[in-house]
Amino acid sequence: MEQAEITKDQYQITIERVEKSRLPEVDFDNIPFGKIFSDHMFTAEYKDGRWQNLRIEPFGEIKYNPAMSALHYGQLIFEGLKAHRSADGGVNLFRHRKNFLRFNRSAHRMAMPALPREVFEVGLLKLLELDRDWVPSGINSSLYIRPFMFATDEYVGIRPSDTYRFIIFTSPVGPYYDHPVKVKVAEKYVRAFKGGTGYAKTAGNYAATLLPAIEVKKEGYDQILWLDGCRFEQVHEIGTMNVFFVIDGKLITPTIETGEILEGITRDSVITLAKDMGIPVEDRIVSIGEVIDAFHSGRLEEAFGAGTAATIAQISEIGYKGERLVLPAIESRKISNKLKAELMGIKRGMKEDRYGWIVKI
Ligand SMILES: *Cc1c(COP(=O)(O)O)cnc(C)c1O
Repeated sequence: MEQAEITKDQYQITIERVEKSRLPEVDFDNIPFGKIFSDHMFTAEYKDGRWQNLRIEPFGEIKYNPAMSALHYGQLIFEGLKAHRSADGGVNLFRHRKNFLRFNRSAHRMAMPALPREVFEVGLLKLLELDRDWVPSGINSSLYIRPFMFATDEYVGIRPSDTYRFIIFTSPVGPYYDHPVKVKVAEKYVRAFKGGTGYAKTAGNYAATLLPAIEVKKEGYDQILWLDGCRFEQVHEIGTMNVFFVIDGKLITPTIETGEILEGITRDSVITLAKDMGIPVEDRIVSIGEVIDAFHSGRLEEAFGAGTAATIAQISEIGYKGERLVLPAIESRKISNKLKAELMGIKRGMKEDRYGWIVKI
């Protein structure tokens, strides 16, 4: 056992290394998304009102009592971020402080305790240092990082848990989608509504979208384009990605201000880069009517989803009220292709990091 150096001495991390790395077993030319896990995980426990027992240990099974509160009432939040292999062989972590802040916003909404920045950051950096060889170098590959927290009280009854567990594990990944996505506009189900949990990265939000996703898959769609739950009028997002449209040369995306849409970090990065490139950006309420009208008058030039897992995923088709709208060819999409190249360039250290988005490990 060794002790990691850490900024605040009340948070000591104990490190137990694997006896034998599983790295040689991994075929890095063929990595599926989310099925391979690196050697170690970072973990901490919340008990008696404070975070304690910080440790890095071999990735592996965890054991819990069947009455564990998270399993019944869903106090469970998570994050998703990535580290990339830079062109010079280093490891670049992308905007992790934003993920940390969002994690605590999700925690607050689910009545869970905030995580101190030191626990999140020092745990994450130390874990990446230890498993840095797991960061793939393929052009479309990266290390996906999954921090999460769940309620661990052994109690059957509805109240916020008094104890929690925080874990970070990592997973080398290839592309999330290997093709442009087809989305169907929601007409029956709702993902989020005002006053709900749409802005929080909490497990129940995703569980609720599985059945709707099965239904649209039968019609040949990959995902649902969610609308507001009152009138089915305002465009929200794609449920793992925020959505962007290019209409008349302007980049348009639904506002996060209503609290119904997840505040994507890729979304924020895309907006920042677009403004810097001189592309007009409209971050506002977007109605599905205007998107459909733009398509019919030939002004819908591009549509894409933006999220950490998929980065920028082109939308090739939108299904709306029985109609299948086939969008312009991917190669013709100047704005999204340029934004994607710029974003990947910054993440991989081939373009200047003008915004301080990268932390080198
Ligand atoms: C994570 C997520 C996104 C994308 O957020 P990023 O920070 O860009 O990864 C969008 N929508 C939902 C519902 C999400 O869970």
